[in-house]
Amino acid sequence: MAIHEKSLIDPARLVTSEKLVVDGVDVSGHWNTMILPRTLRDYDADFEKVIQGYAGGENVHRCWQCGSCTNSCTMYGQNTDFNPRYWIYLTRLGLKEEILKDKEIIWQCVSCNRCTNICPKDVRPEGVMKALAHWIEHEGFGEKSKSSIFDEEFARQCLDRGRIEDMEVLTGFFSQTKQISGTGLGGLMDAINKLAWFKELVFRMSKLNDLMSGKVMRFITRTPISAQIHMGLAMFVKPRTKSWGRTGDVLRQYIKEQKEAAHG
Ligand code: SF4
Ligand code: SF4
Repeated sequence: MAIHEKSLIDPARLVTSEKLVVDGVDVSGHWNTMILPRTLRDYDADFEKVIQGYAGGENVHRCWQCGSCTNSCTMYGQNTDFNPRYWIYLTRLGLKEEILKDKEIIWQCVSCNRCTNICPKDVRPEGVMKALAHWIEHEGFGEKSKSSIFDEEFARQCLDRGRIEDMEVLTGFFSQTKQISGTGLGGLMDAINKLAWFKELVFRMSKLNDLMSGKVMRFITRTPISAQIHMGLAMFVKPRTKSWGRTGDVLRQYIKEQKEAAHG
């Protein structure tokens, strides 16, 4: 069988012969590489259950290794080391040490869910990626990822007020990841100053590019004034879901209980 993903095999176990005859058949050339057998002893038989205990990892046992998730993966298109199918395979075998070799990239999943849409077994690979990333953090194998910091800031606002304020999420995230030095209006100005891509985003959204290039009428007719006033006001008077009351406290308690039940 042709060897796919040869890079994942320990080089010491790959044996290539210039001339190879098997059972009287000359298999030199494309078929001349063999993999030496190995015996695995460093696996954790309960690891699959551990990952199933994290949100998103529940269906990992359903995978039949078709590889559609990796083939469709946005991140795999950027970096062929990002391989959901392979990590799901390792999870099922309980090979934690192998997974930890990739701990610096697993969290980079962008949650596009292309893998989830294409998976024929409803494994929800995106959820498994999140479950693995959370397991790595939870067990102290890696620092809290930017992805987790963003999720926490997003969740905090949902729980505090029943809804989010976009600029507060962004400035809160930038501030906690030490990209800027504060939140609110000061943080927004700091982000525009320090982050070129963010400045471009703000300018495009508010049509300031038109104004700067002298297209005043275009700016006046196209700029989303009411949305900007709404966003500006929301930075000072935080939007809150009606009758939110103690709902956030109840949800926090529920989340705490669920975490304790799943991970002790
Ligand atoms: S698409 Fe689904 S079944 Fe196929 S390898 Fe990925 S997770 Fe497994
Ligand atoms: S959700 Fe993550 S794992 Fe799935 S296709 Fe997108 S980047 Fe890849």
